[in-house]
Amino acid sequence: MLYCPKCSRNYPESSLLWKCSCGSFLLYRPEKKRFPDKRDISSRPNDIWRYREVLPLSEKVNPVSMGEGMTPLVLSSWEGKDVLFKLDYLCPTGSYKDRGVSYLVSKLKELGVDRIIEDSSGNAGASMAAYCTRASIECEIFVPDYTSVGKCVQIEMYGAKLRRIPGTREAATRAAETEAAKVYYASHNWSPYFVHGIKTFAYEIWEQLGWKVPDNIVLPAGQGSLVMGARLGFQELLDSGKIDRLPRIFAVQSANCAPLYEAFRTGQNDPIKIIKKETIAEGISSAEPVKGDIVLSDVRASKGQILKAEEKDIWNSFLRLCSLGFYVEPTSAIVGAALEVLYATGSISEKEVTVALLTGSGLKATDKIVHYREEFIA
Ligand SMILES: [Zn+2]
Repeated sequence: MLYCPKCSRNYPESSLLWKCSCGSFLLYRPEKKRFPDKRDISSRPNDIWRYREVLPLSEKVNPVSMGEGMTPLVLSSWEGKDVLFKLDYLCPTGSYKDRGVSYLVSKLKELGVDRIIEDSSGNAGASMAAYCTRASIECEIFVPDYTSVGKCVQIEMYGAKLRRIPGTREAATRAAETEAAKVYYASHNWSPYFVHGIKTFAYEIWEQLGWKVPDNIVLPAGQGSLVMGARLGFQELLDSGKIDRLPRIFAVQSANCAPLYEAFRTGQNDPIKIIKKETIAEGISSAEPVKGDIVLSDVRASKGQILKAEEKDIWNSFLRLCSLGFYVEPTSAIVGAALEVLYATGSISEKEVTVALLTGSGLKATDKIVHYREEFIA
């Protein structure tokens, strides 16, 4: 069942709607709620489908999977304090998006969709192109024309059609939405299914910590899918009695594009309208987060915070992650800048268990890294 959180209308999944007639996004409410047994989980392959009970899919459909998920949780020292970095940039296409896309494309197969469009700043587009080619689904990706060469080439090499749209990230979305009258719009930002794949990182952290909940999760936030995934995953674990509390969720935005941060700071329930500036954190450069109201309420419910980070601090964090052996894209480095602030202000303590997600591979952003290296040295 698909349902609208704004006007409470329900729709069957077969309606293939990506938004409600009232204009709101839709959410997915699975019919049956079951929970995987710890012993079953442990005996299954190392991918997101080890939690298949919470990823509802017809038994007639094989999941579209490439071993995404079950990424390493690596203990490191940050500011002299222990932090667990979860290496989601090691997913098959080089970003955490593979979790959400594996589930989304599996659902599209179940629903008989054979052609889609999507808009992306790069990583989600690359992931969608890869999973669509495995599922024999025709795929066209709209990207802003500033997207890294590495991501664009990757999308095309998987066989998807690439449409470069001049202007902002939002211009790419508008172009895709116009086309959506004719072709299924598999937008990861609008999709009711995507977040259910994303939530598996919460299950993995719980499993990797010996079936325990961490104290703090630190995540980059543009549209906020990781925040919603963290809340959904840990809330399901809480509701089923597997854990006894939620972790605090700390989400970080670029100071040059911080509609959620501004809303959090001023006590608003919806993202603030902003004029964004160019940022080194291109992957989270989203001026209009579709589900921003949910992201804000998820962070507040967890007793966490939304922070912002300046360009120079993101770059310095990137360099420090490199010195620890983590070659991530600059967007991902924003969590390091946040950790510094959280420790300095006493918001988190070294006695607590803190997990920071590293979301995208630096190998895809080489052109941007070369550019910023020259800019910051100069
Ligand atoms: Zn509605």
